Amino acid sequence: MSSSKESSCCIFCSKYLSNETFQWIGYCNVEGKIIVSKTSCDKFSEVDWKKVLNEKGWIHCLTCKKAFYSETELMSHAGHILASEVCSDDVAAEDSPCGD
Ligand SMILES: [Zn+2]
Repeated sequence: MSSSKESSCCIFCSKYLSNETFQWIGYCNVEGKIIVSKTSCDKFSEVDWKKVLNEKGWIHCLTCKKAFYSETELMSHAGHILASEVCSDDVAAEDSPCGD
């Protein structure tokens, strides 16, 4: 197997929803509350990002602070902190005037 993800397993877990600003804080669906990312957890379940991409059509990279839409891009974000949705109340701010 490949190298371990020692720093914070929650960030890579399908049951964890990262905060957009503080990725080490998020909502754990197993515990049913906001937690600080753990280094190990017996409930860990790695996210199948290809499946997420198929189902949702996009993934948000918290490391690069942008969304992407293809498997090719998924490879280039390997090891980054990804989210299919984020704990943030400004997610709906689609009419925000800031472009990039
Ligand atoms: Zn990235």
